[in-house]
Amino acid sequence: MLKLANFIDGHSVPPEGEGYFPSFCPATGQPHADVPDSDARDVDRAVAAAKRAFPGWAATPAQERARILNRVADCLERRLAEFAEAESRDQGKPVSLASKVDIPRAVYNFRFFAGAILHHEESATDMDGGALNYTCRRPMGVAGLISPWNLPMYLMTWKIAPAIAAGNAAVAKPSELTSLTAHLFGEVLNEAGVPPGVCNIVLGAGAKAGAALVQHPDTPLISFTGGTVTGVGIMREAAPRLKKLSLELGGKNANIVFDDADLDRCAPASVRAAFTNQGEVCLCGSRLLVQRGVYDRFKRRFLEAAAALTVGDPAAAGVDLGALVSREHLDKVQGYIDLAREEGGTILLGGDRPRLDGRLADGYFLNPTVVEGLAPDCRVMREEIFGPVVTLTPFDDEDQAVALANGTEYGLSATIWSENVTRAHRVAQAMDAGVVWVNTWMLRDLRTPFGGMKRSGLGREGGRHSIDFYTETRNICIQH
Ligand code: NAD
Repeated sequence: MLKLANFIDGHSVPPEGEGYFPSFCPATGQPHADVPDSDARDVDRAVAAAKRAFPGWAATPAQERARILNRVADCLERRLAEFAEAESRDQGKPVSLASKVDIPRAVYNFRFFAGAILHHEESATDMDGGALNYTCRRPMGVAGLISPWNLPMYLMTWKIAPAIAAGNAAVAKPSELTSLTAHLFGEVLNEAGVPPGVCNIVLGAGAKAGAALVQHPDTPLISFTGGTVTGVGIMREAAPRLKKLSLELGGKNANIVFDDADLDRCAPASVRAAFTNQGEVCLCGSRLLVQRGVYDRFKRRFLEAAAALTVGDPAAAGVDLGALVSREHLDKVQGYIDLAREEGGTILLGGDRPRLDGRLADGYFLNPTVVEGLAPDCRVMREEIFGPVVTLTPFDDEDQAVALANGTEYGLSATIWSENVTRAHRVAQAMDAGVVWVNTWMLRDLRTPFGGMKRSGLGREGGRHSIDFYTETRNICIQH
């Protein structure tokens, strides 16, 4: 069995306590790697290494930091196929998705922030010729970066790249369910010449290694992506030390289809929004709200396209959905399908597990599932499921669509399908969501602010918002 290691001060190191736990391959249900069960001692060691590296790295000219980040991108790109295969094996997603989306995006995160740090500008204000204010930005020290299992490399690097581009040192703690690519990433950091200690990776459980990182006195800022309940706990833990926090949390996103939507674009894109990555994307359009005039036509097209999706071996070509990340998560998602039935819903598609043979017989597979007929206050309509289960609900007019879309505690993203540009703008502005797409889904411009409203998060990252988050300002006022 592959034994994974922490990456501290430029070296692969075993956990201090020498404990490991197994990581399971979702497609086979078999253990495939031993993950360090790191604790506060490992986090201490990583933070100490980062703290030592910080002054030198912060003093490194931005051009040189950018050059090193670009080398990270190049090294990762050279190993794209290897990382895509590892991420698919570890997370359950189709290898085709990891090679087209996850790993290229991880590469781009480094290229993007290598550029962003060179183009970052601050403003000065002149007070009627009598005084001048200018603002300096400085990195803050050791950034604690905690990421989830659904897009392991994509999201871990979405934090590492801006944190180190801005001159911080970093300690990353990826999800214990998907540690394989993080383990490999240490090699890339060394190949690219990232100085030892600038980026450290501690593997292990959230309640142990993650909590130690949040509680550590020398991590003044924490960027966390994960579940809302975990995020609330992190906020509580970070409060006594007034740590700077970015929380990117759960979602229950509406996909609103108006009567005048272009169904040729909307139906296939809505299927993609519903089931990409087995529905394990925080931005998935899991609540389909469809205007009555087009409801039957949309439903037929959506169901046809969803039924044509292939669930199977993530390593095989032509597979649309792989396996869910873990046995526990599969049980949770299946629990929501049972609940949908109890709450009066009708299962229009799926609801069951595919029968796969051979090495895949014990994998955590689930068919794409569509539920109709649930009232807006049902738990299935309000709670994040984070799997291939979506609800279909009709609405009469724009006001009702807005009320339904905003009727959850979450506010991460929303998608609007309409050919009426005036309505699209009006509805987009009425959404309680940090990200709104019109006639598209998950089209990301990394310069734009990203983050959720309500219980979907706190703070914004992306472009200058990330540089702002990973730095501290000092305003200087000079009177002439
Ligand atoms: P999770 O909250 O269980 O875990 C996320 C990370 O936090 C993991 O690394 C975990 O080990 C760590 N962690 C757990 N308990 C901790 C603690 N007490 N202290 C410190 N760290 C701790 O989430 P998950 O199940 O890995 O991910 C799924 C969730 O992530 C979903 O809710 C999804 O919507 C959300 N998500 C949000 C975004 C976004 O950008 N808003 C993106 C992807 C996923």
